[in-house]
Amino acid sequence: RAKKSAPFGLCHISDDGMQEFDRYLAIKSHLRQALEKQELSLSLQPQVNHQGVTTSFEALVRWHSSELGTVSPGDFIPIAEESHIICDIGNWVIDETLKTLKQFIARGFDLCVAINISAKQIVQLDFASSLLARVNYYGIPTQMVMLELTETALVVDIDTVKHTMDQLAKCGFRFSIDDFGTGYSSLAYLKELPISELKIDKIFIDDVSTRSNHNGSPIVDAIIDMARALNVTSIAEGVETPEQVEYLISKGCNRFQGYYFSKPMPVEHWHNTNLSTKTSTNLK
Ligand code: C2E
Ligand code: MG
Ligand code: MG
Ligand code: MG
Repeated sequence: RAKKSAPFGLCHISDDGMQEFDRYLAIKSHLRQALEKQELSLSLQPQVNHQGVTTSFEALVRWHSSELGTVSPGDFIPIAEESHIICDIGNWVIDETLKTLKQFIARGFDLCVAINISAKQIVQLDFASSLLARVNYYGIPTQMVMLELTETALVVDIDTVKHTMDQLAKCGFRFSIDDFGTGYSSLAYLKELPISELKIDKIFIDDVSTRSNHNGSPIVDAIIDMARALNVTSIAEGVETPEQVEYLISKGCNRFQGYYFSKPMPVEHWHNTNLSTKTSTNLK
């Protein structure tokens, strides 16, 4: 971890800081070729209802670099977001996700998909028209596509983002606010945006009763209530234990996503899975 700057403007960089900076530069330079070299892939993680039935998937990008090995999205997405590369990666993810969804539909499954959209992507002037063109190209009903935006992405340029969201919502696309509760948003402007879902961040789900702690979480309760007040659904991310599921169901959270049900798995895995069955037999 890089040390804080020393006082009086002197900057001391530790060995750790130097290594971190080297890694940053390495990721930044190799990321440019990741697409051409076909090093990106897609994983899908199920989102389930109270019956444990998969209703949708979240698409999560994966990068296996020939030089750096596997790099997690938590490490390379923020670097991609510093430049236009995030748009190229984002477009690749959209295309690959729609292609996969089309294959699921052809197998007779009625599923939706959630795609993460960065701030830089959503403010592109042609974002709405190009997404619509691609969805039409694949012949996918717009209602099957949920777009995940973080609160931070909303506030970057709220007027542009609202305009694009309104345009897309009119066409049938839905929006989920990702990592909800970790950013800055208020009921006042959330109700102005065409939102369908609040996604409760994992850090709040982590607070919810484990075997040793049955306290629950006032923040989780408040977000579920806020979703209800806004007339949108709630989904919990990072659900890992049956106690969390039980608590969330008792509070009226609508859907769940997390390792308890399934880790994100490569697309090929899902092509060989009967998607109409329960993801987890653990759920009552
Ligand atoms: P996110 O959108 O909040 O995605 C949830 C993250 O939590 C994923 O990490 C997922 O693998 C992980 N996760 C899900 N369930 C559990 C659980 O039960 N326990 C734990 N410990 N983790 C769980 P991942 O795949 O590493 O992605 C990290 C972040 O990178 C994502 O957070 C998202 O912000 C970003 N990201 C991933 N794919 C894309 C993409 O295609 N485009 C954009 N713009 N961002 C992406
Ligand atoms: Mg997400
Ligand atoms: Mg999230
Ligand atoms: Mg998160």
